[in-house]
Amino acid sequence: MPIKIAVPKETAQGERRVALDPTVAARFTKLGLEVVIQKGAGQNAQFPDDAYADTRVVDDAKALMSEADIVVKVAPPTQEEVNMMKDGATLIGFFHAHKNTDVVKAMQKKKITSFAMELIPRISRAQSMDALSSQAAVAGYKAAIMGSDLSCRFFPMLTTAAGTIRPSKVLVIGAGVAGLQAIATARRLGAIVEAYDVRSATKEQVESLGAKFLDLGVKAEGEGGYARELTDEEKAKQQEALAKFISQCDVLITTAAIPGRPSPMLIPQKMVDGMKPGAVIIDLAAEGGGNCELTKPGKTVTKGNVTIHGPLNVPSQVPLHASEMYAKNLLNFLSPMLADGKLNLDWNDEIIAKSCLTHDGEIKHDATRSLVEGDQK
Ligand code: NAD
Repeated sequence: MPIKIAVPKETAQGERRVALDPTVAARFTKLGLEVVIQKGAGQNAQFPDDAYADTRVVDDAKALMSEADIVVKVAPPTQEEVNMMKDGATLIGFFHAHKNTDVVKAMQKKKITSFAMELIPRISRAQSMDALSSQAAVAGYKAAIMGSDLSCRFFPMLTTAAGTIRPSKVLVIGAGVAGLQAIATARRLGAIVEAYDVRSATKEQVESLGAKFLDLGVKAEGEGGYARELTDEEKAKQQEALAKFISQCDVLITTAAIPGRPSPMLIPQKMVDGMKPGAVIIDLAAEGGGNCELTKPGKTVTKGNVTIHGPLNVPSQVPLHASEMYAKNLLNFLSPMLADGKLNLDWNDEIIAKSCLTHDGEIKHDATRSLVEGDQK
């Protein structure tokens, strides 16, 4: 019997992505798996059911999930979804386990083997499986587009019979995966781009995209190539140095994040008050509370003449390409485990060991186990 891999329709509000696009679904079929999709699973990403060749379409989520050996999802599963699965099956997707401990407990009870895409270690070998990066790249691209859309100015310089228009100035704070893609996109649209990050390694990356790196004299390299939280003194120094650049930009894109912590607050209200009339802030850190004091996650607000946009789940706004990239990450993660027509879990492989959340009734991820055990006390 071939392994059955199931693709349910995403149920989270506003989620338009799907875990497998037709091309990657066909690759799994070629690997000897049976691919089963829920009716309309790819519809919101513009993949109609009939684009999935050689896959079976099942009407109902329960029927689909209960027969699957592997279920692949994008957004974190609900308890109901876990309860639809057969005992001992495998579930892969984003989990955000710290916010969804009841789901973890449900998976533990049903002996589900779960792999969290966000826990895949960010090592070179795992780059092609790194869904945090693929989806952050989508978000960074879209942030620049949103900025140009909400702005009352052109991004490029325009020389016309009606006069010459100066290009917009875009400032990007946080030059990680999303920030770099925002820089590249704003540059392609013709803006003058400046960027800042507390990790000095980003200087070269920013400059390679044709943007100017702002050296504000605050550096905060943390563990594993990430940033650490700034001290109060560093925060004050950073804000003082940033104020001038923020007051001159037309569009400010903020992406600063520290793993496992709320987004650092970098833009207080008084800095917004000092911005140009018609300036726009796109706060990509809204998911973690935002980098701007005035950000309202999921909303667009105005303060004086400044628009502050705090979008949530941005990758879902580019659902077709975001799904294609996510599906490739899943394929690259899963295919090495699928030798001889069955799922082989090599616990000595750090990618498998570190991304596993639950297996055979155990919580394998230390931080999640402590959290769930803390809940039970
Ligand atoms: P992230 O989303 O955690 O943070 C975004 C950016 O915000 C980071 O560049 C961070 O330095 C910056 N930041 C944090 N606090 C700040 C502050 N107070 N002011 C200004 N900027 C601040 O980061 P990310 O995009 O997920 O990735 C960050 C790191 O991970 C990079 O070093 C990247 O190269 C690395 N990475 C490695 C791999 C891999 O090797 N497989 C894959 C992806 C990313």
